[in-house]
Amino acid sequence: MLSVDEALAKIVETVAPLSARPVALDDALGLVLAEDVVADLDSPPFDKSLMDGFAVRSADVPDGRATLEVVETITAGGVPTKTIAGGQAARIMTGAPIPDGADAVVKIEETRFDEATGRVEIETSRCEPRTNTIVRGTNTRSGETVLRTGRRLRPQELGTLAELGRATLSAFGRPRVAILATGDELVPVGETPGAGQIRNSNETMLVAQVRRAGAEAVPLGIARDERAHLRERIEQGLACDVLLLSGGVSMGTLDLVPSELQAAGVREVFHKVHVKPGKPVWFGLRDATPERPATYVFGLPGNPVSSMVCGELFARTAIRRLTGLPHAGPRVERGQMNHPYVNRGDRPVYHPALTDTTSGQTWVTLAPWHGSSDLRATVEANAMALLLPESELTRGSPVDVVRWD
Ligand code: AMP
Ligand code: MG
Repeated sequence: MLSVDEALAKIVETVAPLSARPVALDDALGLVLAEDVVADLDSPPFDKSLMDGFAVRSADVPDGRATLEVVETITAGGVPTKTIAGGQAARIMTGAPIPDGADAVVKIEETRFDEATGRVEIETSRCEPRTNTIVRGTNTRSGETVLRTGRRLRPQELGTLAELGRATLSAFGRPRVAILATGDELVPVGETPGAGQIRNSNETMLVAQVRRAGAEAVPLGIARDERAHLRERIEQGLACDVLLLSGGVSMGTLDLVPSELQAAGVREVFHKVHVKPGKPVWFGLRDATPERPATYVFGLPGNPVSSMVCGELFARTAIRRLTGLPHAGPRVERGQMNHPYVNRGDRPVYHPALTDTTSGQTWVTLAPWHGSSDLRATVEANAMALLLPESELTRGSPVDVVRWD
């Protein structure tokens, strides 16, 4: 049986990023850049004022005081028409170019302008070369590589791309992920379960996990534990880049998912991982053909926490890999136990936990948890703590955690 790390390595090795395509800047939030972006201009593109005030020669204001002749007013978007000579100043607004001859700006609050004489009196505590100005190219130099392939586009990357004039860019595709819950006991969320029935909570949770991982979710509803019906829904799901099934991958008489996937031409990569919860997890793919791309398929165990943990560890890694991120796997953080705990089992346990970083250290408190059906426990948690098999932890013992948010 594979370890979690071996299973993650198999996923990374099996899943190829979606092909890159041109995308309008306005549609690119959350996508991953598929090109290196080089600045076409200096930023700022000219020496400019950071304040509303008066552009001066700093040498004219040696002790913070001066009276200067104002030769023009320069607003943002305007261009200076005069060179500032000794004894002169220009009225200037934030964002306007610094005129030749001037090297500093005194802010308006430290001046008194006399309309009648056209002179400004200055009284400032600081006026040195570059005071209240920013020099051309300080932020970015023309020709500099500002963003590289593999960067997820957040609002600040999009704004920077806008500054660089990139109305379109090359980005990896956004994966479409189908979600299919299986089980005769399931009823839709809006219904009251009858005898022996439960609500289909996994679909809602997996849809949210998929969206949080940067993909588009395509919920397919509930499949009955019946071969023909399951097969039809699987075919539907195979039209997407990823198909996530929940339930039906264990040893029960109606656990039909692995055999029906194989019948649908989905090749098994692994079945079962040495982990708790989530041991029965199944992963495979329907290979790409010249007509259609590959579809990657996960059979997640039906118990809600098993589905959630396998979703976070395995499905999320496949999704992130498809989106083109260079580091697709879970981000593991080192913390320390806030209390003792003994794992007598022979499998590593991903246990719902609450982390507290207020002291500068990451302290880990395990949430009270009744096992893989107890989704409620995860509501009181923000992470999963990795408890190694046959380990005895005391307060302060190092423990790895993977955050959920
Ligand atoms: P299975 O993996 O199909 O054997 O299901 C394991 C457990 O998870 C059973 O108790 C199921 O009733 C439960 N379960 C399966 N699918 C879902 C679902 N979509 N939502 C909530 N619980 C589920
Ligand atoms: Mg089932």
